[in-house]
Amino acid sequence: MTSGACACNYISYTTTTTPTRLVNCHCNTCRKQAGAPYQTWAHFSTDDIEWQIKPTERRASSTATRSFCPRCGSTVSMALDRIPGLIGLAAGTLNEGDAPIPRPSHHIFLAEKAAWFEVPEDGAQKWDLWSEW
Ligand SMILES: [Zn+2]
Ligand SMILES: [Zn+2]
Repeated sequence: MTSGACACNYISYTTTTTPTRLVNCHCNTCRKQAGAPYQTWAHFSTDDIEWQIKPTERRASSTATRSFCPRCGSTVSMALDRIPGLIGLAAGTLNEGDAPIPRPSHHIFLAEKAAWFEVPEDGAQKWDLWSEW
């Protein structure tokens, strides 16, 4: 089982699966939203996530919906219109101590990465934009 929650524990979720992959996204929106050099997304099938309380959604662009906790502001998820059935949960919301979580497999949108951040040689694939997985 995998579970997760925002910083204040108002938003929480459980799933019987583990993420299919973890992806570090360096795009402008992820960087700004995270307030960090990148956002790590843990990919799941949308149907596999059971929300105890759902996060607040916002249209981040014409192509994606992001969500956050209305109480503490934590980033919770992102979903792309063109990949229905896939949701990225903010990996930092995953609770420790559940099923083992895979290491991030991709750095994506490096074309937009912060100039001050040096991407580590961590074995993950590096993409200027992104792949179709
Ligand atoms: Zn919260
Ligand atoms: Zn991004």
